[in-house]
Amino acid sequence: MPRLGTLSGTLEVLEKYQFHFQKKFGQNFLIEPGIIDKIVRAAEVDRTDCVLEIGPGIGTMTQYLAESAGKVIAVEIDRALIPILEDTLSEHSNVTVLHADILKVDVNRLSQEHNGGRPFKVVANLPYYITTPILMQLFESHAPISDITVMVQTEVATRMQVGPGTKDYGALSLAVQYYSKPEIVAHVPPECFLPRPNVGSTVIRLRRYEKPPVETADVPFLFSLIRASFNQRRKTLVNGVQNAAGLGVSKEEAAAALERMGLPVNIRGEALTLEQFAQLAGLLYEGKERAVRSSRMRGDGSGNDQSGGI
Ligand code: SAM
Repeated sequence: MPRLGTLSGTLEVLEKYQFHFQKKFGQNFLIEPGIIDKIVRAAEVDRTDCVLEIGPGIGTMTQYLAESAGKVIAVEIDRALIPILEDTLSEHSNVTVLHADILKVDVNRLSQEHNGGRPFKVVANLPYYITTPILMQLFESHAPISDITVMVQTEVATRMQVGPGTKDYGALSLAVQYYSKPEIVAHVPPECFLPRPNVGSTVIRLRRYEKPPVETADVPFLFSLIRASFNQRRKTLVNGVQNAAGLGVSKEEAAAALERMGLPVNIRGEALTLEQFAQLAGLLYEGKERAVRSSRMRGDGSGNDQSGGI
């Protein structure tokens, strides 16, 4: 079996299996060994690590990861790639290939089954069509993950890093920066892939914080608020929040909280920092708890109506 990561090795495998690229799965295979080395080095993978690779393709980066990691669990959605992976990874007994959609995988269970519940390092050349859902799910499911090093579309890497007041700032920026410290590893031109993507690519490492940089009473509530604030970008935060189903925050409550923070009531979500969102969530959450408590004391249960989404 050829060492993958080169154009000739990749073509040999594709030919042997008569494999046809599936655009719908975001298949762009790496054909530049220098880049793969760089990714594995940046992820600081060693024999104590169990790596979760999302979308191994024909097993290109998997071969490199298997040489450095203790174990690799590779999750691939395309059934046609499974027999190819059995072949290209036959010399690596520390690799387990799972045929599944990563968005439907319970990563907590995967870690129990394959890594004694200890955290994975995620290393992947991600399928670009679902980069954001994958990352949001990895973060929000509170799966045991210590570190993420991934190839993404350059535009998405930018979104992960920017702060308020820029057009790229949004829910993804805030989620990434709440859970991790983003760090660009390399920009990768289209020639390093087969077929060539029509966008630029960037490798980014997200070092997971042990403790997030801001405190919040209820993390899901904070992120429901953030999503609602960015849902209708051209609307004010107050309008976005009142229209968000399940959040349970009225326009008046949102306006009062902004005033307490000394912010204008017509401010847009894109102007708030992570710290300000956490503070706003704290004030709104406090108000909701107070409403639930007083309705309980009255015994009318009406306060429960306010609890949607928390
Ligand atoms: N790792 C390989 C490489 O670098 O050459 C392939 C990377 S390619 C950009 C993305 C891979 O993710 C493809 O193999 C594709 O079939 C797979 N994929 C797409 N959607 C997926 C999903 N929902 N779950 C798991 N794998 C997926």
